[in-house]
Amino acid sequence: DYLFKLLLIGDSGVGKSCLLLRFADDSYIESYISTIGVDFGNNFLNDLQEVGLICSGILLVKKDLGQSPAATTVGHMIVYDVTDQESFNNVKQWLNEIDRYASDNVNKLLVGNKCDLTANKVVSYETAKAFADEIGIPFMETSAKDSTNVEQAFMAMAASIKDR
Ligand code: GDP
Repeated sequence: DYLFKLLLIGDSGVGKSCLLLRFADDSYIESYISTIGVDFGNNFLNDLQEVGLICSGILLVKKDLGQSPAATTVGHMIVYDVTDQESFNNVKQWLNEIDRYASDNVNKLLVGNKCDLTANKVVSYETAKAFADEIGIPFMETSAKDSTNVEQAFMAMAASIKDR
């Protein structure tokens, strides 16, 4: 059995909690998530700072600024919001943050979330893909709202981690 720690990082509001819940709730541990939701009431997403979930041998952890990462972290999803230019610009800072504690070859995936909001999109797929290619990490656009590529993103991370 595998147990890996995967961090979701990125600006506040880009959809990290929603991605985590969409993935876990849809595919793996619905009842567990529902129970937490009940326990925390309607403010669950707002209140959520860190949740560790064991999903198919992967420990998923959401990281917000200021929290110190554990040494066992082996994968990172750097998330921005395709309707928020600033959140994309800040990806560089998030990558620097990762480099401060992680080894050079730690697994990374760039994720452009909220791709369902096509009318409000300001960061194009091509721009983000070119950036990801330049720094040599994979890239996907997702929507936690309509499920686009959510499972694929987590599974791609898991596969790349297990391949190592
Ligand atoms: P976090 O701070 O990165 O964890 O962001 P949240 O997961 O709390 O998401 C912030 C808000 O963005 C949520 O309340 C949702 O309303 C919205 N959101 C998240 N993901 C999506 C998405 O894929 N599409 C759309 N349209 N809205 C989203």
